[in-house]
Amino acid sequence: MRSILVLDMDGTLYAQNIYRKACKKAAENLKEYLKSKGRQDAMTMELFERIAKHGKVSSTVNMLHESSRLEKPGLLNAAYDLHPDDFGIGNDQRLVDYLNALKGRFRLFVFTNSPLIWAGRVLRELGVDQVVESSRWITFESLDGGAHIKPSKEAFELMLNKIGHRPGEIIFLDDSQECIETAQGLGIDARLICNDGHDHNVHSHSQSIYWELEQLIEGL
Ligand SMILES: [Mg+2]
Repeated sequence: MRSILVLDMDGTLYAQNIYRKACKKAAENLKEYLKSKGRQDAMTMELFERIAKHGKVSSTVNMLHESSRLEKPGLLNAAYDLHPDDFGIGNDQRLVDYLNALKGRFRLFVFTNSPLIWAGRVLRELGVDQVVESSRWITFESLDGGAHIKPSKEAFELMLNKIGHRPGEIIFLDDSQECIETAQGLGIDARLICNDGHDHNVHSHSQSIYWELEQLIEGL
């Protein structure tokens, strides 16, 4: 019996294009921060574009930590000097209602590579913090200080350890194909989400978060 529902955050609980906009700003913030520390050489154009185009802020912070020797908390705080408001992330009552409907049947968790500073702001803004309490947010910090992040197998093993459940008990929703593959490899029922801000994704094999949650509610 699957009794645990694990949710990715960025690009899953809110739209992917919004996340990309936030990442672009995070990349600019990091560039400024490195400049202020006299380490602008650490931020190559390649790294900048990696964040701006593909997200991956957390893994880039790990790389910058290695190359610049600046501490991760400082890099993360600088990168995420953003407010969800500025990107149009606001209360999503439909999402909150669906999660509330599922709460009696599933234990809900959020599993994100983002640090607590960003996860907290986004989840509060969406209203999801009212349904999934902060002790059930698995963030960058909970993943051995970001030493192992998604899509690595180690990150999923850390998550399993933290929630104390076996893969066969879990349904996992994420917008990253790589994450889905790792999770499936471990025996988790993992489903690819395409959150483009619409209900149904005509041109995609993946489904919207609302559609997936509706399926789960119908199965209750
Ligand atoms: Mg994501």
